Amino acid sequence: MTSLVPIAPPGTAPGTAEPGSDPRAGLSGVRLDEVGAWLASAGQPPYRARQLADAFWRGHARVPADLRGLPAALQAAVGESFVLDTLIETELQLSDGGLTEKALHTLADGSLIESVLMHYPARAGHRERHTACISSQVGCAVGCPFCATGELGFGRDLSTAEIVDQVRWAARRLSSDGRRLTNVVFMGMGEPLLNLDRVLEAVSALADAARFGLGARHITVSTSGVVPGIRRLTALGPQFTLAVSLHAARDPLRDVLVPLNRRWPVAEVLAAARDHAASTGRRISYEYTMIGGVNDTAADAEALAVLLRGDLAHVNLIPMNPVAHTPWTASPMPVIEAFAARLRDAGVPVTIRRNRGQEIGAACGQLAAEHAGEPPVAAVARRRERLVTASAAAIRGERSVDPSPVRESGEEA
Ligand code: SF4
Repeated sequence: MTSLVPIAPPGTAPGTAEPGSDPRAGLSGVRLDEVGAWLASAGQPPYRARQLADAFWRGHARVPADLRGLPAALQAAVGESFVLDTLIETELQLSDGGLTEKALHTLADGSLIESVLMHYPARAGHRERHTACISSQVGCAVGCPFCATGELGFGRDLSTAEIVDQVRWAARRLSSDGRRLTNVVFMGMGEPLLNLDRVLEAVSALADAARFGLGARHITVSTSGVVPGIRRLTALGPQFTLAVSLHAARDPLRDVLVPLNRRWPVAEVLAAARDHAASTGRRISYEYTMIGGVNDTAADAEALAVLLRGDLAHVNLIPMNPVAHTPWTASPMPVIEAFAARLRDAGVPVTIRRNRGQEIGAACGQLAAEHAGEPPVAAVARRRERLVTASAAAIRGERSVDPSPVRESGEEA
């Protein structure tokens, strides 16, 4: 038998070759045909690729992935060329009586990312669900001021394997007592459509019956409104459920709450989302974080109703998570219920979402922010003051004159 030698690994994605990082590719981010090519280059028969893929993806919920049964030389070569897990679980916090599990993971270059596993017990007419909320980037360039990740700024894109391995982490947690992951949502750290190539590769691995085997209908990707990314997805056809983080229906306020709005305003985002719904036949989810006294008035509800009336759309109202360094808090529940009633009266489907894991800082980025350390008191005070001033001007209808945080190419400005 020809012995296997380590070669330049396939599937190495941008972002994995950071200083100090492991140069090997994460095996979960490598396509089966790439694995086959790697094996063929080492003189291995074609059936070895299937053997390796079967062993890895069948045992993917174990650490390390169970490669028993493969020839020792093949196992050793895999270890020299590939990393079986790109994440190290660094912190785990449970809340809501164990229904919410939040993990902080360390990557090979020392970057920190978060993922959350949420359990939804069975209820009348609904089977139990287990949803992993995962990250697509280290930090985020968009800078939404109600989000702890936005305050961290942008670090780098995640590789395909670093995205998929968050889902494998969740599956592993569940497999210990015989449960299975049912849903994946890309609503953790980062803007998925600014790392769209890697996100699409990860979705392929998750949806592929020969690999993770999760149906594409059980995958939701959220965007803060990257219009070129939405249009690219529309051209590709239905890949997963698309969620748009709207948070305000009027441009002045959305300029402040979702700074990307200064590049792609509400009308452009809605036009792209509508085209996507029309072309794919799939309903768009609109996420709307309810911030007390900022975006929760009757006028805001009316503007949202006018925007979405008649669309293939569903609105999720989410009470704002308590986030340090903002002057804001969640809208009171009666205000949220009145807001929902206005939308319902206008014929717009709406659900009020429960906050998960408030006591552990479920809002994405909070654990990583704690590890980054507390900013100086004076800087926090200035940030709060800036937000109060900017939101007051927005409520008066004044557009922001600040530049967009992201350029057309998706690079940080
Ligand atoms: S809410 Fe999403 S898009 Fe906005 S800063 Fe946070 S991670 Fe980025």
